[in-house]
Amino acid sequence: MQAWNVDPSILYRAAESVGVRMDNLRKQGRAIAFRLKTTLPVRYGRRSQQVRTKAGELRRVPGAVCWHGHRAFMRAVFAVNPEARIKTALADYHGVHQFEETHSATAGQGNGYNLAYGSACDCGAAEELRTSTVRVTTRR
Ligand SMILES: [Zn+2]
Repeated sequence: MQAWNVDPSILYRAAESVGVRMDNLRKQGRAIAFRLKTTLPVRYGRRSQQVRTKAGELRRVPGAVCWHGHRAFMRAVFAVNPEARIKTALADYHGVHQFEETHSATAGQGNGYNLAYGSACDCGAAEELRTSTVRVTTRR
């Protein structure tokens, strides 16, 4: 993901506050590019949407952070800097208002890379995600 109008120290603190970590942080023009990774113990672990273990469980993707973890991180950034811009694989948020109004619509999407469905994670927020997905679908 990428962020603008935000200091790297804010990103590090936001990550730490929600239990994930920054990975491969680098400058990209005026943006800061980075990935989020899980820390131990894993709170926001993401599982593969396709690959199952022999036991039939969806395989955990090492280090991958789920949809809820990304959401928690972005909320923590916007709490400190409401004017930040954060771009993910699924959306481009210009400030906290746009984020809160639109981010739930990405719940049913996933590119298998850094965001995924709530059903493919370990964080325990899957039920909440299903609920918000239904709400978004009904609105269309
Ligand atoms: Zn999750």
